[in-house]
Amino acid sequence: MAVVPARTSRPDLGVPFAPEPRVAASGTLFSASEAPSSPAEVVSAHAREQTRCRSVVDRAMASSPLLQFMVKAIKGRNCELADPLVVCAPIPKAPIEGGYNHDRRQVLVNSLVIKSQSDALTLLLHELTHAYDACRVYVDPGNCRHSACSEIRASNLSTECSWQNEWFGTRRTPHLGFRAQQQACVKRRAAKSIGMLEACKGKDPRAVVDSVFERCYADTAPFPRTPI
Ligand SMILES: [Zn+2]
Repeated sequence: MAVVPARTSRPDLGVPFAPEPRVAASGTLFSASEAPSSPAEVVSAHAREQTRCRSVVDRAMASSPLLQFMVKAIKGRNCELADPLVVCAPIPKAPIEGGYNHDRRQVLVNSLVIKSQSDALTLLLHELTHAYDACRVYVDPGNCRHSACSEIRASNLSTECSWQNEWFGTRRTPHLGFRAQQQACVKRRAAKSIGMLEACKGKDPRAVVDSVFERCYADTAPFPRTPI
């Protein structure tokens, strides 16, 4: 896990450190019909994946006012960022969509998993929320509550718990109103994320999320409210 350098000049607002990689719903290197038969074909296939991933990321960035607003907000914090801020790379053995690297200050997109512009939009908003948090507050990688807070914010602001994703996806829980449904989704995803962290080992992820939920869910910066 990335080690976050101490940043004592920034206040500790109880918000972020967000190291965890997002778990993909599914993802394989190649479909059976596409499986390469030689090392040269593997290299060629990876190059195609990289190009396709970069194209998807670029289109998401170019078409989303939310992403553009977030990037502008991050840059407005005047913290050091990698150039490029977002990179595509294959992560063959990990079923993850991507993650934020605190050491490099860079967002990684798993080129083997992210296939669509909408997938890229949600992932980028999620990971860039972590980047934004890391720019604005002191973060403690050993503090499970910090991680929980940033995960709550990232799930809330990334639209991954929007009514479209929740109601038309596979995670729908009946008998809940939209707001309750959205909050339940944010809690569920945040708890799942911190459950994989060393800093949260031995703790009940749901209880940790509950302990910071109200404050962190209400914190929608840099957006004035939760994007829909
Ligand atoms: Zn996250």
